[in-house]
Amino acid sequence: MQVESRARRCWVFAAGLLGTFACAQQSASRIGEGAFIAAGWIDATATLDESTTPVYEGDAPMSFEFLKDMRRGDALTLSKFSLGAHSGTHVDAPMHFVRDGASIDRVPLEPLIGPARVIEIPDSVQSIDAAELNRHGWRNAERVIFRTRSSVRGWMRSPTFHRDFAYVAPDAAQLLADAGVLLVGIDYISAEQFGAPAPITHRILLGKGIPIVEGLALEKVFAGDYDLVVLPMKVAGHEGAPARAIMRKLAR
Ligand SMILES: [Zn+2]
Repeated sequence: MQVESRARRCWVFAAGLLGTFACAQQSASRIGEGAFIAAGWIDATATLDESTTPVYEGDAPMSFEFLKDMRRGDALTLSKFSLGAHSGTHVDAPMHFVRDGASIDRVPLEPLIGPARVIEIPDSVQSIDAAELNRHGWRNAERVIFRTRSSVRGWMRSPTFHRDFAYVAPDAAQLLADAGVLLVGIDYISAEQFGAPAPITHRILLGKGIPIVEGLALEKVFAGDYDLVVLPMKVAGHEGAPARAIMRKLAR
């Protein structure tokens, strides 16, 4: 679409000599600025698949259905998806646990795109509390992502829901929120302790307008600094949505 409209603009400019020059100038600078190549990017998204994607206990079941299928002789292939908003890799918007909080379509791009630090939490640790957090260098990070036992054990590719996933404890969430972190991410479908009496971690982060990315696929992503792009589906007025997340190691 963009290319098309630029071509049209150039065509109009080409009517005059001066216009032709302006057009060439514009194309050259656009190519230089716009170079966004796929090389080096890691797909940190869990594949949505009924047979392998874990569903949080009690959440809506996931189903992907073909309404029409060319392999069965239909004239086209057409699908219907049915799944919870918090399926696979997804983003929690403030509205998830804050009554008048922003819905997913109103979460700004700023927290969702930019540098992120991946912190590796040992397999033995289930509770990422303030003490555990402070064992790692996180202080100057704009976005903090935890790679935990869930990645070590491949849990985002296992249909069994594991209750003993590693979670962000409220005191660690408070430290992150107070430090002005823009985004917090984790590699299982919730950042909150399973069965926690109250969703305090969510309340602390979302209460400060900090979106939470859950269900990241971090098997191939290790400790270090990355560029992160995580883009949730833009669903009007709802509290979360599945997302595509990609990461690229920063040379440091
Ligand atoms: Zn969620």
